[in-house]
Amino acid sequence: MILHIDMDAFYASVEQLDNPDLKGKPVMVGGYSKRGVVTAASYEARKFGVHSAMPMFKAKKLCPQGIVVPGRMERYSEISKKVFSLLETLTPLVEPVSIDEAYVDLTGCERILGTPQEVALNIKQRIKEAVDLSCSIGIAPVKFLAKIASDINKPDGLTIITPGQVLNFIESLPIRKVPGIGKVMLKTIEQLGIKTLGDINKFPEKMIRKRFGKFGRRLISLSKGSDDSAVTPHLEPKSVSTESTLSEDTNNLNLLRRRLLKASEQVGRRLRKHRLKTKTISIKIKLSDFKQITRSVTIKEPTGSSKTIYHNAIALLDKYRLPKKVRLIGVGASNLVDSKIPSQRGLFNSGEKIDENWEKVEKAVDDISNKFGKNTIKKAALF
Ligand SMILES: [Mg+2]
Repeated sequence: MILHIDMDAFYASVEQLDNPDLKGKPVMVGGYSKRGVVTAASYEARKFGVHSAMPMFKAKKLCPQGIVVPGRMERYSEISKKVFSLLETLTPLVEPVSIDEAYVDLTGCERILGTPQEVALNIKQRIKEAVDLSCSIGIAPVKFLAKIASDINKPDGLTIITPGQVLNFIESLPIRKVPGIGKVMLKTIEQLGIKTLGDINKFPEKMIRKRFGKFGRRLISLSKGSDDSAVTPHLEPKSVSTESTLSEDTNNLNLLRRRLLKASEQVGRRLRKHRLKTKTISIKIKLSDFKQITRSVTIKEPTGSSKTIYHNAIALLDKYRLPKKVRLIGVGASNLVDSKIPSQRGLFNSGEKIDENWEKVEKAVDDISNKFGKNTIKKAALF
C-alpha cells in the first residue's frame, strides 16, 4: 500500500492562506521581471490556462486580472517541513519527492492505521488542522500508480486503486500519463498505435525492448502492474569529502589547483547524486611534516555545482601561504541541504541563473559518466 501525497497548488495556496484578500482570486506566484516565470498558479488562475513554468508575461496576457505575488521560499519550506514531519509520525518510510510531494509506504500499517481510505482521510484532516491547506492523495499497490492516482481528482482529491483494479486501470490509462515518457518518446509510441499503457501488452516484448531499450523493459513491467521501485526515505550523508596524497610532496600551485579541481568535481558529483547542496566548503592540506590544516568558507547560497565548489576551494588555497611542501590535499562539503527544496534566490531571482545553467551542464556530464564510465568526459584542465 503506497500513498502519494501532493499539496494542491502549493505556493499559491500558501499565499492565499497568509493573505485572505487573495482567497478565491487568480494568484500567480513568480517573478514579475521580463524573464520571470510562474512558479505556481492558484486554481482560479489555472481556469484561464495559466500553469507553472509559463513565462509571466504570457500568464498576464491570458489572465490580466491575475495577481502576481513574489515567492517566499522560506515560508513554503517551513510549511513543507510541518507536513513531512506529520507524515513521519505514521511511518519512517516517507520519501520526499519535492517540497510539496511525497511517497509513504503504508504496507503492513493497516492493522494500526486502518483501511487505505481511513488513512488518507485521516492524513488530509491532520494536514488541514496543522497547516490549513488541502492536498490530494493517491493510493495504489505500486509507486507509479499512486502518483498517477493523486493527480486524478485535484484539488482535495482522493483516489484509491485496489490490487484488484490495477489491470483494468492500466488497460485504460493513457500512455502519456506514465511518468518518464517525454514528448519525443510519446510520438514514437503513439505512431505504433499504442494509446494506453495496457496496449504495450499487445506487442511482442522483444520488439518493445528493441525499440525503447532500458525504458522498454520498464514499460513492459509497468504494463503488467509491477513497479520495483521502493519508497526510500533518504538517509543523507552529513558531509561529503575526498582527498588524495600526491605522488611526491610539492609546492607547485598549478598542480595543487588541478588536484582541487578533480576533488571538487568528485564532491559535486556525489552531492548531486544524493540531491544535496552544500553551504560550507572546506579544503584540507597535510604538509610534508604531517601537520594538518583545514580552511573553510560558508557561502550564502547552497550549491551543488562542482564549479562553485572549486572556485571556493581555490580561494581558500590562495589565501593560505604554504609554509612547507604539501603531501595531501582534499575538498569537503558540509552543512548540506536538500536540493529538491529550491532556494529562494535560485527560484525567484535571475542572479543565480549562471550557477543554475552550469549545474545543468554538470548534470549532463554526470549522466554521461554514469552511462559510459567515469572518465568519458572531463575538464580539459585535467587532461
Ligand atoms: Mg503540488
